[in-house]
Amino acid sequence: MEKQDKYANIDLTKIYEYSELPDKKSGRCDNCDGVNFKNSVGKSKFLRECLNCGMKKYI
Ligand SMILES: [Zn+2]
Repeated sequence: MEKQDKYANIDLTKIYEYSELPDKKSGRCDNCDGVNFKNSVGKSKFLRECLNCGMKKYI
């Protein structure tokens, strides 16, 4: 139940970690279900930013 709350309250000002918020659906944005992302490298991980809503996650 705790996981569902996290997906229901996505904070777009925050950068999520895959370990704390795995993809609800693989390869899809947890917030808007979008499939278009911009990937960049940061902190020796990939930062994936949703082009639709701007949600960011280290993957
Ligand atoms: Zn999105």
